[in-house]
Amino acid sequence: MNAPVPKPWVMAIAPYVPGRATTDSGNQAAKLSSNENPFGTPDAARAAYASAADELERYPDASAHDLREALAAHYDLDADRIIYGTGSDEVLHLAAGAYAGPGDEVIYVRFGFAVYDIAARRVGATPVVAPDKDYATDVDAILALVTDRTRVVFLANPNNPTGTYTPKADIARLHAGLPGDVLLVIDQAYTEYLAPEDDDGALDLARTQPNVLVTRTFSKIYGLASERIGWGYGHPDVIAAMHRIRAPFSFGIGAARAAIAALGAKEFVEHSYGHNAKWRAWFADQIAAMSNKGLRAVPSKANFLLVLFEGEVSAETAYKGLMDAGYIVRWLPGQGLAHGLRITIGTEAEITGLTAALRRIVGA
Ligand SMILES: *Cc1c(COP(=O)(O)O)cnc(C)c1O
Repeated sequence: MNAPVPKPWVMAIAPYVPGRATTDSGNQAAKLSSNENPFGTPDAARAAYASAADELERYPDASAHDLREALAAHYDLDADRIIYGTGSDEVLHLAAGAYAGPGDEVIYVRFGFAVYDIAARRVGATPVVAPDKDYATDVDAILALVTDRTRVVFLANPNNPTGTYTPKADIARLHAGLPGDVLLVIDQAYTEYLAPEDDDGALDLARTQPNVLVTRTFSKIYGLASERIGWGYGHPDVIAAMHRIRAPFSFGIGAARAAIAALGAKEFVEHSYGHNAKWRAWFADQIAAMSNKGLRAVPSKANFLLVLFEGEVSAETAYKGLMDAGYIVRWLPGQGLAHGLRITIGTEAEITGLTAALRRIVGA
């Protein structure tokens, strides 16, 4: 019988597995599986979002003019060089779609963000996976894989799901080592959680170099994951190519207004940053105290910790035990991390409660 035949590269995609929001038993649980902001979103963003309730029949501004102007003012950017999309996920797809296709290669790191693999395969390009250096990004390993078929390099900084950070000098070395016709995409979804001295220099590269795209999102520290607002910054030619293939409308009127309001919520962002820095350090210490049980936290500069289970109690056992105790975390066997749990830094009550439960589970 005749039937439509999907492209083989599409059938080679392992579909994205989102963080779970419910437990096996259906009991209430703290969701620490998707790196969302435990404080929600700023009040001003919620009010701005609500103001759009009477305009639901209208198409949003396809040019995202007001949001681009707000971003340009906030980060001292050229508004014409800002691309935007339905989450930064879409911006990542646009980068792959504009610059890679069948026969081309797209490089990213092992233990990298799952969307890079999908974005590469979706357009028929060949994914090329660079080995890590004890879970951290190895710039030399990436450079060693570059061929004349390489078109895009994806790099998250800090990286997800490892939380590892690639310093400015390494980012500069990576860029300097890439041929000019390779687009370097630096995904800064967690950049707001970095200390000011940890600026990786990527935005400055995007300002000055023709082959660097930086992507950002309102889903993480700004607490607007539901509204799917992402953006990117790069050379005008890169932005123009991406505009050709983007969907005409990326996010709603309320979403754009909420994003603009969130951008101005300095206190909320500072509070979220401070809380995360404090409790991430506390949680890392607690994991270190369980090292005799084979637990180890990968050094993180993001709003989560990747905890490795290298002792008797497996990550799967801990995952199930935490779920029974009311904490949903991310177990990532599909990403080569059957021995790891990625745990979002939640509220104080959540992270201390989870730690107590984990201690019981591993017998510490
Ligand atoms: C969460 C995340 C994103 C953001 O995705 P959105 O589509 O903007 O919600 C992008 N990259 C990485 C590495 C992430 O962890």
